[in-house]
Amino acid sequence: MMSDSSRRIRMRAAGLLTGTALLAATAACGSGAAESAGGTGGAGGGRPEVTAALYPLQWLAERVGGGDVTVIGLAEPGVEPHDLELTPAQVAGLEKTSLVAYVKGVQPAVDEAVEQHAADRGFDAATLVKTLAAEEHAEEGHGEEGHAEEEHGHEVSYDPHLWLDPSRFATVATRLGEKLAAADPARAAGYRERAAKAAADLTALDGELAQGLADCASRSIVTGHEAFGYLADRYKLKQVGISVDPDAEPSPARLAEVAEVAKREKVTTIFTETLVSPKVAEVLAQEVGATTAVLDPIESRPADGDYLSAMRQNLTTLKKALSCP
Ligand SMILES: [Zn+2]
Repeated sequence: MMSDSSRRIRMRAAGLLTGTALLAATAACGSGAAESAGGTGGAGGGRPEVTAALYPLQWLAERVGGGDVTVIGLAEPGVEPHDLELTPAQVAGLEKTSLVAYVKGVQPAVDEAVEQHAADRGFDAATLVKTLAAEEHAEEGHGEEGHAEEEHGHEVSYDPHLWLDPSRFATVATRLGEKLAAADPARAAGYRERAAKAAADLTALDGELAQGLADCASRSIVTGHEAFGYLADRYKLKQVGISVDPDAEPSPARLAEVAEVAKREKVTTIFTETLVSPKVAEVLAQEVGATTAVLDPIESRPADGDYLSAMRQNLTTLKKALSCP
């Protein structure tokens, strides 16, 4: 109800390390599989391994780590990451990884596995920036604060989609550079240099978005699930989410409410997402006389390009939909 993390968790893998999983972990250690993925580390060079729980952090770890780290991604391309379930081998991998980059609240399975298997090596991006409160729909009412948390210890009261504000993500880049520099002092200068470059790219992107969205005829964005709170906050747009949860069917009452807002604010475009069925958005668009367009929450690796190019594509889409000069 409060964020997409409030979905139920199917998280049995972390608790049940089976004999097979233990064997797999042992085999992986013995063969040095973790060290085999390219770069300049040399035989048994002790290159740090960064496990990235979702695509934006994987992109960042690759940028900041360069050839000095091995980056392991947990999320499958094209799979809605909130639903991620970890294999026993992935959970076992957390026991030996140097750092787990994640955003607590996005993937309940990861949150739980980090707590159980890598509590001392977690790099939670949500602890590094000022988070925004999770959006609450008016109909869902008041007095529910803390409700989700009571149901499950891993749920969070903030909106976890912080990578959609490049200025916050630049802070994460800098902090990741510092973290890797501390963990691998021999190569500290390289981590700091690449982190500074990544942060500069993100700051430049932030400037493009700020400029591109400064003078738009409309400032309301109707989105599929409420992933764009940080983007809306940073660039002074108003997000109207059809649903908090990417999988849940919105209630008729919520749909009627969104339709009313869309008509009142003369919304011309209802946004859909890459990984979520556009059906509801299409019905809504037809009802209010709008078209649909894809806005990518970048929760998974884009089909083409990377984080930066996907954000620039989002800017192009927004400028068209909101009639920005
Ligand atoms: Zn999401």
